[in-house]
Order: sequence, then structure tokens, then C-alpha cells
Amino acid sequence: MSTIFSQIVAGDIPARVVYEDETTLAFLDANPLAPGHTLVIPKEEYERLNDVPEDVAADLYATLHRLVPAVEDAVDADASTVAFNNGEAAGQEVPHVHGHIVPRFAGDGGGPIHAIAGEAPDLSDDELDEIAADIDGRI
Ligand code: AMP
Repeated sequence: MSTIFSQIVAGDIPARVVYEDETTLAFLDANPLAPGHTLVIPKEEYERLNDVPEDVAADLYATLHRLVPAVEDAVDADASTVAFNNGEAAGQEVPHVHGHIVPRFAGDGGGPIHAIAGEAPDLSDDELDEIAADIDGRI
């Protein structure tokens, strides 16, 4: 069964589309966290960021890059939080990659990205070195 976002791509359910090209689509979030809250998706269905082929990932970033200033300007925002919930444990509800552009306003009461995680771990220099080396070794 296709995701609700694939149904939007197919035109089977309505959405307030703000941008479309060959590989990507952007539309207003149905439950906006702020006026102008926009979702940017690859038209093809990929669940996680790492499932997206490199060329489509580049297209996705290009669309985000175009949309961010347009969204901010449209609602006269001071800034924006741009983020992906990448996997269920991170809060992803729709298993179809989507970047959120959430317009932000001075004094809007929201937090930074740093507010999303649980208690911050207390890591030693050795542990940080080991993690950095481990990540580097997997690329
Ligand atoms: P996430 O938790 O990152 O998976 O976010 C999914 C987002 O999709 C939520 O912000 C929903 O409000 C939004 N959403 C779900 N269904 C629709 C829809 N039919 N049209 C627009 N946005 C939707």
C-alpha cells in the first residue's frame, strides 16, 4: 500500500501544493506547527533518508534550498527550523521521506533542535574519539 504522500503525488488525495518538479514535491502540512509549515518530499517513496539515491537526494536538497526563503518570506518569518524525522524512533509517522520547513518567529516559544533529544549523555574524550572513528570507518 502506498503512503499518504504517494497518494498526494498521484493526485488521489488533495494537498496545497506549493512546488513541483520532476522528482520532488512540496505542499503545506495539514497540521501546521506554524503558518507556512511545508513538507518537501521525493516523489518516489523512500522510507529513510539513507534509502534515497544520491541524485534524488541532491534534488531534494535543491528543492529545500529553493523553498526555505520562499516560505519564510510568504509568512514574514524571522527564521525556520528545517528537519527530518528519520525513522520511527525519531518520531517519523509517515514512512515516506519528508523534510519539514517550520517557519519560526522571534519569541514564538518554540525550542531549537537541541530540545528534541532526551537527557544529554556525559561522554568522555575517549568515547567521543571512538564514536568519531567508528563513524569515519563506516563511510
Ligand atoms: P512526521 O511525524 O515527520 O512523519 O510528520 C508527518 C507530517 O505529515 C505531520 O506533520 C502531518 O501533519 C503531516 N501530514 C499527514 N498527512 C498529511 C496530508 N494528507 N497532507 C499534508 N500533511 C500531512
